[in-house]
Amino acid sequence: MARIVMKFGGTSMAGMERIRAVAERVRREVEAGNEVAVVVSAMAGETDRLVQMCREAAPLYDPREYDVVVASGEQVTSGLLAITLQGMGVKARSYMGWQLPIRASGHVSALIETIDVSVLDRAFAAGGVAVIPGFQGVTGDNELATLGRGGSDTSAVALAVAMKADRCDIYTDVDGVYTTDPRIVPRAAKIDIITYEEMLELASVGAKVLQTRSVGLAMRFNMPLQVLSSFEDRPGTIIAGEEAVEERNMERNIITGIAHDLNEARITLRGLPDRPGAVAAIFRPLAAANINVDMIVQSVARAGEPSDLTFTVPTASLPETVAELEKVRQEAGFADILTDTDVVKISAVGVGMRSNAGIAAKMFDTLAERGINLLAITTSEIKVSVLIPEAYTELAVRVLHTAFGLDQERAA
Ligand code: ADP
Ligand code: ASP
Ligand code: MG
Repeated sequence: MARIVMKFGGTSMAGMERIRAVAERVRREVEAGNEVAVVVSAMAGETDRLVQMCREAAPLYDPREYDVVVASGEQVTSGLLAITLQGMGVKARSYMGWQLPIRASGHVSALIETIDVSVLDRAFAAGGVAVIPGFQGVTGDNELATLGRGGSDTSAVALAVAMKADRCDIYTDVDGVYTTDPRIVPRAAKIDIITYEEMLELASVGAKVLQTRSVGLAMRFNMPLQVLSSFEDRPGTIIAGEEAVEERNMERNIITGIAHDLNEARITLRGLPDRPGAVAAIFRPLAAANINVDMIVQSVARAGEPSDLTFTVPTASLPETVAELEKVRQEAGFADILTDTDVVKISAVGVGMRSNAGIAAKMFDTLAERGINLLAITTSEIKVSVLIPEAYTELAVRVLHTAFGLDQERAA
């Protein structure tokens, strides 16, 4: 007997036929003697629809009320799955975030603080299945809170940790984690097993198959994760610690995967004076406004002469960023603010970079051969990212995937 969390994403919950298929899968795990908690997403497209309605109600909506609206999609699917399971003769009950409770702080992208699993323990002891809406929690003041887009993954992992599950299975519309988004590159190859660290980097640079926070949480608590198809029965991708991965896969590729992120906007400040404090005057107010700055490029060609500063922020934060910058224009002393949302960040990730030089050079060469201009670059120990014009997204992902030897051989 094992204790497991099964999480089903939006496509898996989109309509009664799919919910019945999900219930079948849950029933199989229960009949195999396992204790099962199921975490569900809203039906595909539902959260987008709810977010859009909040925007229509007021462009600068109240975060508390946004949470009340957008948390509702998961309430519907958890109730429907519980009813469907009951109809199949499986003892099942849904428990909303407040009923456990799942305590979280903040609104819109709240952080989970604690989860009380005593209700679940009682449900399991009585042979029942617990269905829990993903993406939601309840604040200390008993207000609804949501965990940020894609947050049901984080709900699932947090719940698995709290109930000391043996593993957390993430069922989705692809049958695992691929070397890049399989919807962009049909030759992307499925990865059998990947380290938490690499998955964390891939997720954080745009591979949306898992919410970044969920991978961080799994890594911290060493919770075994699996990404599987909710439509087909076949092995998925295991996400585990370095040792487990090395045991199974001694000769790994230097690069594990390529990811892209369209959610970046570029800002260039022209004519920034070359004096101490000029850059600090720009980033201080952005930090205070909780704006996430990602790539930063500055180069002072000749001491004392004004230079340009380029950086990126999430596209949704662009209007607020420009407003904050206008406030410090005098103090920082720059001449112009230029903005561009038609950009994409392309990243190559792999722990093999630690022991192999020349990855960045190969990436730049490959893109140069296709006439793709680089607007900004950042690197970490296991990642190289470049910012390029959005129009080249597919081409760049494809040529890099090929250049790093990741293309799957086509079956003859
Ligand atoms: P869910 O609704 O189940 O949470 P998501 O849409 O959030 O599903 O995530 C699954 C999607 O992630 C896939 O349909 C795929 O297009 C995309 N994706 C992006 N990068 C990758 C990758 N490297 N491997 C697999 N899927 C990826
Ligand atoms: N329904 C939420 C979203 O679309 C959470 C999730 O599906 O993970 O962002
Ligand atoms: Mg998702």
